[in-house]
Amino acid sequence: MPETAPQPQPPIVEIRRRIAAAAESARSASARLLAVSKTRSADEVRALAEQSGQTAFGENYVQEASRKRAALADLDLEWHLIGHLQSNKCKEAAATFDWIESIDRSSVLAPLAKARTPKRGPLNLLIQVNIDAEDTKSGCRPDQMPGLAQAINGFSNLRLRGLMAIPAPDADLAARRPAFAAMTDLYQSLRRSHPQVDTLSMGMSEDFELALAAGATQVRIGTALFGPRAPKP
Ligand SMILES: *Cc1c(COP(=O)(O)O)cnc(C)c1O
Repeated sequence: MPETAPQPQPPIVEIRRRIAAAAESARSASARLLAVSKTRSADEVRALAEQSGQTAFGENYVQEASRKRAALADLDLEWHLIGHLQSNKCKEAAATFDWIESIDRSSVLAPLAKARTPKRGPLNLLIQVNIDAEDTKSGCRPDQMPGLAQAINGFSNLRLRGLMAIPAPDADLAARRPAFAAMTDLYQSLRRSHPQVDTLSMGMSEDFELALAAGATQVRIGTALFGPRAPKP
């Protein structure tokens, strides 16, 4: 038999291995991978889904996600909004996404609940916390989180699943540790009052192992899976 050259592994194989290793050393029960597909074509998403069985994809813009979801309707994919939710996009967001990870104010809840059709089931929500108190970033203050959680519980077709954060992008990765630890504390306190909560979404291409070490249950990875994104025009 002629020897065949080993196929280069797709990046997702190595990323999954690193996630599993980090989750194991943190003794975490679950560590999900959200593949961040913003700026990537529907064909690229299809290729990754078919090649690897990846089903959860994250997008920053409602319209971009809506187009991809329509183009990939034959695949059973799960779409997460990870970008800021504009008030005038609630209706389309409720139709497009399975999860919205960027809930940071109560005023979007009634429009989301109203727009969510019963056949899609409840919309899964994460509260985004501005953990480093950055001026430019969306996300609620930590002290606003419990009230927002209460408000979500008031809607039968909105399901509170946990918290999301994007720590300040300090070039020194270790400097992000206190933010990850503070998020884990908030998450534990939320779980005491809302035991159904099961998701702490934090960690990206550069720092996902630090996030998992701190207790993340979901990491959001784009660049390390798909390569660098083109700069915004
Ligand atoms: C773009 C983005 C990511 C992925 O970032 P990478 O560095 O490409 O892994 C994760 N989370 C959010 C909220 C993003 O906007």
